[in-house]
Amino acid sequence: MRCPFLREAHVQSCQASPFRKQIVRSGHAADDRCGSAAWRDCFAARELTEEHPSAGSCPFHAESLVQYCSSAPVTKFIPWSDQAFSRCGSESHRYCDLYLALARTSAPTPETGEPAPRSDDADGIPVPTWLWFAPSHTWLAVASDGVCHIGVDAFLARTLGGIDRVQFVTTKGLERPAAVLTVRDVDLTVSFPNPVLITGVNGALRADPARLARDPYGLGWLFEGIVRDRASLPSGHTKLTDGLLRGDAATAWMRREGLRLRGLAEAASERIWGARLAADGGLPAPGLIRTLPHEEALRLSHLLLSTATDEERFS
Ligand code: SF4
Repeated sequence: MRCPFLREAHVQSCQASPFRKQIVRSGHAADDRCGSAAWRDCFAARELTEEHPSAGSCPFHAESLVQYCSSAPVTKFIPWSDQAFSRCGSESHRYCDLYLALARTSAPTPETGEPAPRSDDADGIPVPTWLWFAPSHTWLAVASDGVCHIGVDAFLARTLGGIDRVQFVTTKGLERPAAVLTVRDVDLTVSFPNPVLITGVNGALRADPARLARDPYGLGWLFEGIVRDRASLPSGHTKLTDGLLRGDAATAWMRREGLRLRGLAEAASERIWGARLAADGGLPAPGLIRTLPHEEALRLSHLLLSTATDEERFS
């Protein structure tokens, strides 16, 4: 499905004019000098010569079909052919900043045919049921047209707190998507476990890395890609979803991860201060990584993101 804010229009332009200006065709007769015999009265056309001019319309009159975003503050016409695979013309529009702002939704909602738009709660961590989750705390959304998006889950975003910098390790091609997130003086490499044909990255995160923690399932997405194996989409398994979880299984896993984080934080607390954290049973406070000394922050994040024991962790 394409973006509901995408519009099409016929535009006309004058190739005899020194200034190329595209004007939306209104259909009023008054606008139609270029497309009628009246073009012979046009000063710009008389300045130029054409060997076999048509009597019915100006030879320098050009018309084309364009698309544009009706919600953008400045209208920019894009040739229709260039739009065929763009974000606006595909399911990818659900991750557009403008679309998310106007649709008044923070996280992209699932498409028709996907599981009901429900977001489970794992001890305060949202777990959207239409997303696939990897043990590296990354998520995957696959649309019916094969466009997919990848980001980090709300659990990791909460544990890291504010992100100071995002650097993309992989940007194009068939790769295991990976990015380095910097939190204070700690660099963490997050990677998605399965190869994806990456078509783009969320460049807005370079200027505003905080959006990753603010909206991990929406504006904070990291990678965009395409799945060739469309036959088994959207609900079936593809190689892309090997080893991933979603729905109730993902929620249960997220709860176990909460307990694991609690244990890791308590062990770190004992090493640093010689005492365990007060056991209130909940998750450690948001931004835990920021509060730890460098070595402990590195150790905890490594253990948290380790994918060496995926099978045990997802068994
Ligand atoms: S720029 Fe965004 S809101 Fe505008 S048409 Fe494209 S996807 Fe939709």
